[in-house]
Amino acid sequence: MSLPPGFLDELRTRTSLSQVVGRKVVWDMKKSQQGKGDMWAPCPFHQEKTASFHVDDKKGYYYCFGCHAKGDAISFVRETENVSFMEAIEILAREAGMQMPARDPKAQEKADRRSQLVQVMEQAVQYFRLQLQTTQGAPARDYLERRGLKEEAQARWDIGFAPAARRALLGHFKDKGVDEALVVAAGLAIKPDDGGAAYDRFRGRIIFPIRDGRGRAISLGGRAPDPKARAKYLNGPET
Ligand SMILES: [Zn+2]
Repeated sequence: MSLPPGFLDELRTRTSLSQVVGRKVVWDMKKSQQGKGDMWAPCPFHQEKTASFHVDDKKGYYYCFGCHAKGDAISFVRETENVSFMEAIEILAREAGMQMPARDPKAQEKADRRSQLVQVMEQAVQYFRLQLQTTQGAPARDYLERRGLKEEAQARWDIGFAPAARRALLGHFKDKGVDEALVVAAGLAIKPDDGGAAYDRFRGRIIFPIRDGRGRAISLGGRAPDPKARAKYLNGPET
């Protein structure tokens, strides 16, 4: 989505940085000079007791003299809410009572597809998690224990197990009514070029989710607990 010219300028004019920042910090009223738009607070980006985080409300910029974090209202929302540039603009525009421009339908479609893939990925992670607790998963659990990855670590990293079957995950998704093409697109199954039936990419493997900065599973790593396996490690493509 692209923004019309002047949109960001108007958003900046309508946005009070001290108001946006004020929700996340406690101002040091002794050091601040509110009338001048000169505000100080303990920094929200690093641990401190003194106020070295400065907001220049007139210019709309902040700067931390401790950790050197700096930026404007958009970057502040991005950092503190952990959202993208566009999402930060949406949040600020809503608060400023500004109408967001209509989304480009192609970009919308792409975003929808991406969120579908993320969902399929997460469902696969949960499915593999459950399989690790089954009888079939016992050798994988033993292997992990021997490597010092106890139950707590397995839960923390969402480590799972892919059964040694061609259509275990695909069967699970079929029961849930998930389109097979989506499972293939997520890199969780392989569809042979010769038109044969699709099959699970990960079979008889311990599964390690690979997550992005926002905690979304973007790929999976599979490790064969059996040392005689052809490929010890197998990584899925990134979605
Ligand atoms: Zn700081």
